[in-house]
Amino acid sequence: MCAAACPSDCIYIEAEQDARPYSERIGRDERYAKVYNIDYGRCIFCGYCVEACPKDAITHGYNFEISVFNRADLLKRKEDLLITNQKQSKNYRVALSSEVVDSEYKEV
Ligand code: SF4
Repeated sequence: MCAAACPSDCIYIEAEQDARPYSERIGRDERYAKVYNIDYGRCIFCGYCVEACPKDAITHGYNFEISVFNRADLLKRKEDLLITNQKQSKNYRVALSSEVVDSEYKEV
């Protein structure tokens, strides 16, 4: 849904079936995003993807300075986008106790 809502066509998703038995899945869904890329070189930060997500899986924080020297570095993979791998702004939600975050930016 997020990729369909994106006006600049910068979200790329490859879905895959979750082969695990139902009881072993973390979520209930049978399909998951094997590949999830956002090209921030094309993103216009409109927020349509955030609005379109039925699972509230996408949020845009306050990281407005994503300048890089290499344009290819603006392509963020799923592993880059997972919140536990990002530095958190103090304006962002407080991390759950089970999450590992960079404490430099964590509001306590
Ligand atoms: S915020 Fe960026 S990624 Fe999301 S829909 Fe808008 S252009 Fe696409």
